[in-house]
Amino acid sequence: MKVLKFGGKSLANGAPLESTLQIIGSAARLSKIFVVLSARADATDILEKMIHMAASGDDYQQEFDVFFNYQVAHTPQLNLADERYSIGRMLEGVALLGEYSLKIKDQLLAYGELISCRTVVHLLQERGHKARFVDARNLIKTDQKYGSAQVLHELSRENFQSFFADNEPGTIEVVTGFIGSNLNNQTTTLGRNGSNYTATLVASFLEASEVQNWTNVNGLYTANPSIVPDAQIIRHLSFREANELANFGMHILHAKTILPLIEKKIPIRILNSFNPGDPGTFIDEEGDGKGIKAISAIQDVALVSMEGRGLLGKVGIDGRIFSALSAAGISVRIISQASSERGIGFIIDAEHAKLASKALNQEFYKEIELQDINDITINKEVAVISIISRNLQFLDIAYSSLNRNNIKPILMANTINGDHISLVVSKQQMRKAVIIIHGHIFGATKRLNVFLFGKGNVGKTLLNQLVKSKVRIKERRGLLINIFGICDSKKLLLRSHDLGEKWLETLEKEGVTEYSIDDIFSYISKQHLENVVVVDNTASVKLAEDYPRFIQNGCDIVASNKHANTFEMGWYNTFREQLQNNHRQFYYETNVGAGLPLIDTIKLLHASGDFIYKIRGVFSGSLSYIFNKYSESKLPFFSVLKEAIEKGLTEPDPREDLSGKDVGRKLLILARELDLSVNFRDVHIESLIPKSLRKEMTKEEFVTHSEELNTWFESIKEKLDQHEVLRYVGELDSVTGRLEVKLDRISSKSDLGSLSGADSIFEIYTEAYGEHPLVIRGAGAGAEVTARGVFSDLLRLSTV
Ligand code: ASP
Ligand code: MG
Repeated sequence: MKVLKFGGKSLANGAPLESTLQIIGSAARLSKIFVVLSARADATDILEKMIHMAASGDDYQQEFDVFFNYQVAHTPQLNLADERYSIGRMLEGVALLGEYSLKIKDQLLAYGELISCRTVVHLLQERGHKARFVDARNLIKTDQKYGSAQVLHELSRENFQSFFADNEPGTIEVVTGFIGSNLNNQTTTLGRNGSNYTATLVASFLEASEVQNWTNVNGLYTANPSIVPDAQIIRHLSFREANELANFGMHILHAKTILPLIEKKIPIRILNSFNPGDPGTFIDEEGDGKGIKAISAIQDVALVSMEGRGLLGKVGIDGRIFSALSAAGISVRIISQASSERGIGFIIDAEHAKLASKALNQEFYKEIELQDINDITINKEVAVISIISRNLQFLDIAYSSLNRNNIKPILMANTINGDHISLVVSKQQMRKAVIIIHGHIFGATKRLNVFLFGKGNVGKTLLNQLVKSKVRIKERRGLLINIFGICDSKKLLLRSHDLGEKWLETLEKEGVTEYSIDDIFSYISKQHLENVVVVDNTASVKLAEDYPRFIQNGCDIVASNKHANTFEMGWYNTFREQLQNNHRQFYYETNVGAGLPLIDTIKLLHASGDFIYKIRGVFSGSLSYIFNKYSESKLPFFSVLKEAIEKGLTEPDPREDLSGKDVGRKLLILARELDLSVNFRDVHIESLIPKSLRKEMTKEEFVTHSEELNTWFESIKEKLDQHEVLRYVGELDSVTGRLEVKLDRISSKSDLGSLSGADSIFEIYTEAYGEHPLVIRGAGAGAEVTARGVFSDLLRLSTV
């Protein structure tokens, strides 16, 4: 024999009711079934509302009509005249008196279940089933506590057993949930959502083989799916575990509801009548033995804090607090004491906040007067997140990850049995915190929320790469790179869903023109975005100056933009401190040598204690190309330069390259990695622009002076020996602190001299490597490799 319980939503008019009738029909073909029903849809709420209206003298007639029209929508033949008459009479009485007792209210609410069961019996019979209406008030006996009566088990059990002693196997018994009666035969109710309890009681009284609890969800989840989209269904758990979840507010089943099942070891399934094919959640004595993991969040709570010198080391304070509260009927969920014992905080249900404050102020009025206790504060803007699991090793990871997202738990505590952990966070941060913790505990997909600045060569290429690799990265690394916004110097676009290839097009069409970075910050906080990274692929000084604000707003930064690393040393140091204090990351591998793993290598060598005494090389891919080509061919300098421009190898204005500034910046960045305290003006740069052309002029004007460039470089080339070539070389001497960029004559047989294409080369001289420097060589310019480098930085961020 099985007990099938259906909740209000599964009994709503239309498809839900239809599906429920089919589920009942199929189950009845397999075994004897008892069906326990709630009131249909929100009938109980509406009845409650009407009695309230009646008592307050409001006109409830319209509600009344709507209620009955709804109830008979599927069953025009069903005569509900008696029910209608009784409900009408009760409401009239309440309206007359202007008040009502809980006793009357229970009588009224009972009609929700009574009508529901009569309706379903009628429909089942219409379809040819044998079905019987069972008014549970004749069988379930309770005490007098209207609104939330205690069941008298033995008596009720006897009633059930004798009533169903010789029942017909083929009849579907349809039992009203939620209601019972006291020893005077007055109607009582078992508390809101009490039908679940009725179902487990019936199962235990009649020793059913199983309870099916049909709801509108697929089962119990590892977290609230409306908060965590990738929450998983818990397929199998033990009664004990289900109880634990219930204690932490994962209310599908109240603890009281499970008790009757535990005694008789009757398993229960949580099933979805809107998705009957899903296996749902199965709860039995053993569970699957793996132990559950879940995260719950409770919002209707308040944090009570007491602080003051009078709490310092005094014995008995806690005792007094809890006696005062328990005398007021308030139970405490979580307690946490600061180690200094100067403060104590605890969590109670929000509805008790006022009462708690009163009780404590009374209890401690003396201490407050003497200022031994400064203040008793109550904060309702908090939520309790509980991590339910017996394995808490990951708590550290979850905790540091919260920290990285600027979420500082207000309070942390082991739960009473020590198995689980609860954190109190501000209500505003709850959602984000749950998502982050869930991601860590279930190894679910980690999400990086990315904002892109710049859609030039590198920006555009990166976007393409991100879009193309998204699926693969999710599969291989469990990492979801979610772009939520993009902007260039003119327009800003923010979207809660990733637009994939359409970002740039949509930015053009729908981007807003008036914006500031504050718009991005407010969007991040409004959408509760976690793990936010801003990617700067611009060459904007202004944007680099704003990095500290990004840090303060909880973003990590990945930049191909070099400016932040070349500002004055004071700024640079402060920014490094800010990064550290805010636990933020800043990656900029592409600042030097594009995608080549240079900065990271230097950092590691330096951190490992190897002394780097010199770095020398051809730092600029564009100038590498120009001089490699110019040295070996007979072409005039300007033709080579033009070729480089056309290939997109130079900066938009080639003078940025020729002036040596770009190489100078790179040298400066490397020097600072070695802890040299240097500024851009300390770099000795030999410019490749002839003196006569160094004055103010436009780029267009500059390129008309090709002859001057040609002759100037020709005169330099003439001086080369036979096996010599020209290379634009950067050199950093960390012993003397000299940084130099110059056009050098190099033997064509050396590493530098044999360079080709637009390759860069870096020779790193260290103590450990001795005479033979560590050489890093490869494509040092170009959008494709630079974007890849930025991409790698993003991936690197995902692992911190
Ligand atoms: N109809 C009652 C309520 O809404 C009982 C139940 O649905 O379980 O609380
Ligand atoms: Mg209900």
